[in-house]
This record gives sequence, C-alpha cells and structure tokens, in this order.
Amino acid sequence: MSRRPPQTLELDEAQRAQLLPLLHEIVAAEGLSPKRLNRLQRRFPRPEGGLYSRSDLIHAWRELAGTGGLPRCEEREDVLLRLRRKPQRSASGVTPVSILTRPHPCPGECIFCPADVRMPKSYLADEPGAQRAEQNAFDPYLQTWTRLQTYWHTGHPTDKIELIILGGTWSFYPEHYQVWFIKRSFDALHDFGRGIDRRAEVLAALAAESALHPEAPRVNAQVDGRLMQRNYNQVVGEVWRGELQRSPVREYATWDELEAAHQENEAAACRCVGLVIETRPDHISEEEVLRVRRLGCTKVQIGIQSLNDAVLAANRRGHDVAATRRALRLLRRAGFKIHAHWMPNLYGSTPGEDVADFGRLFDDVDFRPDELKIYPCSLIESAELMQRHEDGSWRPYTHDELLDVLTACLRRTPEYCRLTRVIRDIPSTDIVVGNQLTNFRQIAEEELAQGGERSRDIRAREIRQRQVRAEELQLDEQRYRTSCSEEVFLQVITPERDIAAFLRLSLPTDAPLTAELRDAAMVREVHVYGQSLRLGEAAAGNAQHAGLGTRLLERAAVLARQAGYARLAVISATGTRDYYRRRGYVDGELYQWRDLAQEAAAT
Ligand code: SF4
Repeated sequence: MSRRPPQTLELDEAQRAQLLPLLHEIVAAEGLSPKRLNRLQRRFPRPEGGLYSRSDLIHAWRELAGTGGLPRCEEREDVLLRLRRKPQRSASGVTPVSILTRPHPCPGECIFCPADVRMPKSYLADEPGAQRAEQNAFDPYLQTWTRLQTYWHTGHPTDKIELIILGGTWSFYPEHYQVWFIKRSFDALHDFGRGIDRRAEVLAALAAESALHPEAPRVNAQVDGRLMQRNYNQVVGEVWRGELQRSPVREYATWDELEAAHQENEAAACRCVGLVIETRPDHISEEEVLRVRRLGCTKVQIGIQSLNDAVLAANRRGHDVAATRRALRLLRRAGFKIHAHWMPNLYGSTPGEDVADFGRLFDDVDFRPDELKIYPCSLIESAELMQRHEDGSWRPYTHDELLDVLTACLRRTPEYCRLTRVIRDIPSTDIVVGNQLTNFRQIAEEELAQGGERSRDIRAREIRQRQVRAEELQLDEQRYRTSCSEEVFLQVITPERDIAAFLRLSLPTDAPLTAELRDAAMVREVHVYGQSLRLGEAAAGNAQHAGLGTRLLERAAVLARQAGYARLAVISATGTRDYYRRRGYVDGELYQWRDLAQEAAAT
C-alpha cells in the first residue's frame, strides 16, 4: 500500500480533461517502449506549451485511475511500471534507499581510500548519493524522507524498502549515534507512509544548532594524498569537533525508542524489509554481531579487499586475512547476509595474483560471500596511494589487464553469489589516472559472450521485468560448505536458469551464538522477484505467485527437518515480521522461528 505524500498537488478539472485521453492511450498500448511513450507525449502536449513529463503522468495516473473509464491502479499495476524512471532500481520488488552517515574518523588507514573530509570516509563529494546526503546535512530523517519522495514521484513502490546505511566504519560511530540514526530513518519511513512531512522542523533544529555554535569551522580543509601533512581523521576531528561535542544532545535515542520504532514499522505503509550497514572485519566480534542484530540489521557490507596478508599490509588495511575469516564466520553464524567488497589492482598485487585471489574467495570455505562488490583500485588525489604512483611503485592496470581480471572474476562467480558491482561508479573528474569507464561490467560480459559464455551470478540471471509463466519454473538446489555450515541455495529458475526467486538456508555445524539459535537451521534470505512474476502470472490467469516465497520456506523446513534440526529460525527485518508470523513463525528476542520438532510430533 502506498499513500500520497502531502506535497502532491490536486489536478484541476482542465488538467484532468487534458490528461485522460493520454492516459487511455498509455493503458491501451501493447508494450509501451520509451520511443512510443515519447510519441504519445508529443501528441498530447500541454496547452500552455511543452510536454507533460513522466512524473506528471505518474501523478495523473495515480489521481485519475478508476475514473473516466480508466481501470483502477490495482487492476493495472503494469501502468506505473511503464511510466517509471530507471525501472531496474526496484525491479526486484524492493526499493533501495541508501543514506550516508556524517563525516567521522575511521580506524582504517588504507592508502587507496579517498580522504574527502566533507564526506564519511571513502566517499567523494561529487558522487550522486554523497551529494544527496550533503544536501540533507547527513541527517537520516531528511535523507530518507527526501529519497522516498523522489521514488514516489518517479513511480517506484515505497512499501518495501531496503535501508542501506553507508559511510566509513559503522561500528566505529558512537552507539548513541547509531541508535539515533536508525530510529530517525524509521521515523521518516513512518511519516512518509502517513503523508506527514516534518523536514521543516528538522531543518529549523539544525539551523538553531548552527546558531548556537558559530565557532564551528566550516568544512573547506582538504587532504593532499601526496603530502599527507594531516590525514582524514585529523582534519575531520578538527573540523567536526563542534559537531561531535554537541552530538549527544540532538543525535541521541534510547534502545527503547528504537525498539518502539521497530514495532511501529511492522505494520507501517513503508516497511523496512532489509537493513544494511558497512564495517571492517576487525570490528566484528560475538558481541558486535548480536548488537548489530539488535539494531535490526539483516545484511552486513564488509571490506575484505584482498585475501593476501602481504597486500593487506602494504595497503595499511590494519587487519589480516585471519580477521576476515573470523568475521565472516561470526556473521554467518548470526544468520547475516554477507555482502563483501573486494579490490583488484591494489598496491603490491598483479593481474595474475588478483585472479588467483578471487578464486580463493569461492574455493575456500571460510569466505564464499552471498553478494560481492568488485572495486578495482582507482587513484584519487586525496589518497596516500598518490605517493606510490609518483614514485612509480604503483600504476593502474591497462584496459586489457583490467578486462582480463574482470572476465576471470565473472567466470569464477558461482550461481549463489550476486555481483552487485563490477566497478565503482566514481566521477571521472575524481580519477587522477586509470580506468574511467563505468560500464566495464557490460564490456566484460560482452567479452564473455564472444566466447559463448555468460555470467552465472544472480544479478546476471534475474528475470527483472520479464514475464515468465509459472509452469516453466522449476526448483533447483545447490549445496556448498562454509567454515560453520552447510549452505543450501534454493532457487526457482527458468529452463535457461534465469532466476525468479531464491532462499538461502544455513544448516549450522558450529555451536549457536545465542540460546535462541540452539538446534536451529536458519533462513538467511528469501527473495522473490515480485513485479515480474505478478505480471507474468496475472497474464496467465495464475494466482500462484503469492505462494512462491511460502513454497520456498516450506521446502527449507523439510530440508532442515531432514537434516535433524528441531527449529527453523529466520533473520527477519522489522517489516517482514508479520509475513513470517502469518507463516507460523513466532517472535524470539532477535530472530523468529518455527518449532519443527513440535510440528512433527503433532502430525
Ligand atoms: S576501513 Fe574502509 S573507510 Fe576506513 S580507511 Fe579503510 S577503506 Fe577507507
């Protein structure tokens, strides 16, 4: 369910009369290409001149559906899909909202990492997401509300949100800040869903604070990677000292307040169906994974960067491969989805060593991430790597070297992993030297295709907006070992192995992290590519889509029972708790679970 945000204007009678025929054409069109839509926009211009924008049409469709002979929104969900900008953004049925924490010291001293002191560590001020964060003063409420508004105006769903919190090392921010940041993001979800806009109040509070602290220096200092008289932490410490001193006053929420926000989210119009933070391996401990779980997190982005101790040391990562092994094991034992970051072309590596390193990511049972971002090292002026480039001890790979490495990576990625990025989308103006092509994934995929190959990773196989018939889908099960579990990757696929839904089931072999997980197998992720299936099955007159996630869960329960587990736990997000309750799961402290033993005894 979506509601209209309060700033949306009512259409007047004259506008309705103009837009109705255009909407009728859009509804009636068989497969509306962007070119065809553009022709329709030209055929029905605004009387005062110019064309109706897509956002105008989206707004008009929401207002006028169900009137003047138009079908209701629920009858024709595909109409919004046709009008939506960048439809791939929410093609998985879940809309990602990425927000940034404010600048803050980072425990890492990685020589490749940008040191833009206007940003949280590793981000650059002219990246689009970073610009949005800065325009919103890094405030979680402003960022979340404003992003939801943009999605609403561009026709994306706002009912299922994956909240992705980016910036530096999450675990290094003060706890009160973390609790407050998530609580305020949830407040924005709830307000937006109810049509309430409190951004003016937040801006007024920020302005009042600035007036109270006129001595707080503005952020205009920069770090020069060649000189490094002062590093990021020193500059940020000085520049933001005023901010940090006052932070406990405004940037404070209690755990009780956060848990109340979690509960409110369970039945909210904008539900959080996934919560992601990013951190470093050496900041993961037993206590930390459980604390992060208590915050409501379901996925952790973690910088692995290299599986070679010498390369990690040369790049001053500040942790070794053993720390990565420990961290991934702990995260998996707690049921988190693991989204790793890995970097080729680091100082001290070579293309051949990178390809071997990538192989270890999946050959070694200690790693095997669920998702992966590949970020080839780029040279940024504020990074200490500038010195290694100037003395000739580091250079960026040539186009062909990078292509060789990335095609090898695509080839080696198994079906259970999702390659979310194959290159980091850094503005070319920030890259001092080296690759500036942001479509390198496409280039590498074309290279594979020339040899008759294709990527097997999840992202390359997602059905996205494609319609599929329910009868062509089949269930496929893949098993692989990790350091602490046997993993079962259940996927619903087409004959071409394109993926319509999947579930990650963990059968732990280690002792449980908490009493709550004793004798429990664990569902770590359920993902149904909703929009495409709804369309396909509606067209085929088949209502089975509603059961696809449930069928995967039932299969997981059967497998868990066969493997001897008494319970099946799930690492649910706040917004999916109700979904699991309706499928027989009960609430625990940090997880929800089904009692398989009791069910078996009752039958
Ligand atoms: S830990 Fe991450 S954010 Fe911190 S310096 Fe290293 S790469 Fe940058």
